[in-house]
Amino acid sequence: MFDYKLGLDFAIKQDENDPSASYKNQFHIPKDKHGNDLIYMTGNSLGLQPKNTKSYINQELEDWANLGVEGHTEAKNPWLPYHEFLTESMAKIVGAKPIEVVVMNTLTTNLHLMMVSFYKPTKTRYKILIEADAFPSDKYAVESQLRHHGFDDKEGLILWKPREGEELVNYADLEAILETQGNEIALIMVGGLNYYTGQYFDLKRITTLGHKYGCMVGFDCAHAAGNVPLNLHDSGADFAVWCTYKYLNSGPGSLGGCFVHERHAYNKNLNRFTGWWSHNKQTRFNMRDEFDQLPGAEGWQLSNPPILSMAAIRASLDIFNTVGFETLVEKSKKLTGYFEFLLKALGEDTIRIITPNHPNERGCQLSIQVKNANKTLHNKLTEAGVISDWREPDVIRCAPTPLYNSFQDVYYLVERLKTILNA
Ligand SMILES: *Cc1c(COP(=O)(O)O)cnc(C)c1O
Repeated sequence: MFDYKLGLDFAIKQDENDPSASYKNQFHIPKDKHGNDLIYMTGNSLGLQPKNTKSYINQELEDWANLGVEGHTEAKNPWLPYHEFLTESMAKIVGAKPIEVVVMNTLTTNLHLMMVSFYKPTKTRYKILIEADAFPSDKYAVESQLRHHGFDDKEGLILWKPREGEELVNYADLEAILETQGNEIALIMVGGLNYYTGQYFDLKRITTLGHKYGCMVGFDCAHAAGNVPLNLHDSGADFAVWCTYKYLNSGPGSLGGCFVHERHAYNKNLNRFTGWWSHNKQTRFNMRDEFDQLPGAEGWQLSNPPILSMAAIRASLDIFNTVGFETLVEKSKKLTGYFEFLLKALGEDTIRIITPNHPNERGCQLSIQVKNANKTLHNKLTEAGVISDWREPDVIRCAPTPLYNSFQDVYYLVERLKTILNA
């Protein structure tokens, strides 16, 4: 797609011509003990801190100091409706309508809340389908839901597996599972972009297939949100959840996002867990009213939310709004394509990329298998100033994120890897 070239000159030229290159300066880049910037390739695990985050949080600390409880209505950004300040920007990033999106709780908590509403097993239709290499928290969550409803967590769990000797899963195999067991499956819950292989799924295709067999369909988009163009509304998915501390740079353990499709927005019969924040805003503080369900995704909130964490999300979303997500996606495809090009030049007998090679079937992350490698390779990379992620048995995951990684970062990453492999 692009005409990549070897050599540092090419990387320098790309950075010079990159309209979003300056955004790197808006982030704190971790440094080695000599004060040099590390090459940070783990935005898929914990995104870096925007320099403006501190002032957004300080604003709320000051208003709390000066106003106390009055801050709920009198703060510069009043706390009562604070979560609403995030909705529109977040909805844009995941391709949803504002009524379909809310920022609340943390990811796995939201996954459970969604399953309270969308996993409604019966005696004959109770199974849950997930992808074989799902993120452990997702697997534990769905297993516990099976047990919670009195089902066996092994018999009730269907794994969508890659074929023998392969890493990526295959849509034909999913179709085959649904053809034979579709009427037993209550819920399909797949990681929208697999954390291990980097495979980005066709959410619409999976949803359409699942709905055809009468299954509910939800996605964990932790590795997709802020990384790939999601079209959650158009996908037709019943629900989705994600976190904000990976590609959305909102700080360790920050709040999660949640999507509930518009078609469920006004359905008051949908079973759910509720709290005062799922109650009608107009009468919430009358305190003695009968419960009155708030429509849309907001209606799944339980508690009044943590403002300090939301301030960090706001700081980050403002950056995304300024750059424009489309600009980032465009750079991301080019940057990851460049990474792939350089890795392949190392020789395909030493390096194998397990992430799909089509740019529309992946985000920025490449998962790299190195022949005969063990964790010492990862340790050597760390010593050489490259922060990457190691997954047993033999996979290094690197995610050049377009907001704060440059073409030169990618160039030097591969140079250092080459030096280590040749030593
Ligand atoms: C990061 C991640 C999680 C982590 O869940 P938390 O509840 O935020 O700790 C869960 N699932 C997936 C797919 C993830 O990538």
